[in-house]
Amino acid sequence: MTAHGVRRPGRAILGGSFNPPHVGHLRLAVEAREALGDLVRGVDMVPCAQPPHKKTGHLLPFELRAAMLEAALAPLPWLRCNRLEALRDGPSYTWDTLQAYRAAEPDTDFYFLLGSPDFALLPTWHQGLELPRLCHFVVVPRGDLTAEEFTDMTSALWPEAREHPPVLPGGRCMALPGGGLAHFLPLPWLAVSASRIRELWLAGRSVDYLVPRAALNLLQSHRQAIAAHWQEAK
Ligand code: ATP
Repeated sequence: MTAHGVRRPGRAILGGSFNPPHVGHLRLAVEAREALGDLVRGVDMVPCAQPPHKKTGHLLPFELRAAMLEAALAPLPWLRCNRLEALRDGPSYTWDTLQAYRAAEPDTDFYFLLGSPDFALLPTWHQGLELPRLCHFVVVPRGDLTAEEFTDMTSALWPEAREHPPVLPGGRCMALPGGGLAHFLPLPWLAVSASRIRELWLAGRSVDYLVPRAALNLLQSHRQAIAAHWQEAK
């Protein structure tokens, strides 16, 4: 991990189940990339093979989720899907994923993007509070979470955390034990979620403009298999 505040091109990572990918994920990647500027070369979307926390019955096959992501990301060369979690057996822990990234790119700084509800849940992740040894965080607020509440949340997670001069425009920053920084990036949270898209789909309603067109084409061509998986959540 680079010492706090040292700038060199890194990589942003957005992990998720992408069941299915939607415009909220894509706008998060686009806006975080703009905010990070020269700090990163691009953004990797990393579909989770076996989510440790979420129920997996309704999860579409990894291959289909990854194919939808690849189709959605194709127009933007700096945005790519990395399938590395499918190469490991067992639960897909972010800790293992970041270790693999660091082994492959030891001189790169990694910026893990996530929504504030997921950030708050880090203590429930495998080695979640140790992750600042491997990456920085870029936390996007859901709802009306303020910068002060972000600071309080971060201090509750890591009592040793200290305020750090902001690095991102309009942001707030905390230095974490282990070397990583937690950046607060106040972006508008689009009111879209994969759960809502699954509900609409199962009700026979349109998901136009919520799922990127290229991914939606794949959903439509696997209509029967998808209904079978998503129904399992009911
Ligand atoms: P589900 O509704 O099935 O729980 P989801 O829509 O939250 O799924 P995930 O694949 O679990 O999608 O999310 C991956 C990452 O994207 C998480 O860090 C999550 O906080 C973030 N995210 C999800 N939806 C949005 C959104 N609308 N705007 C910004 N970030 C989002």
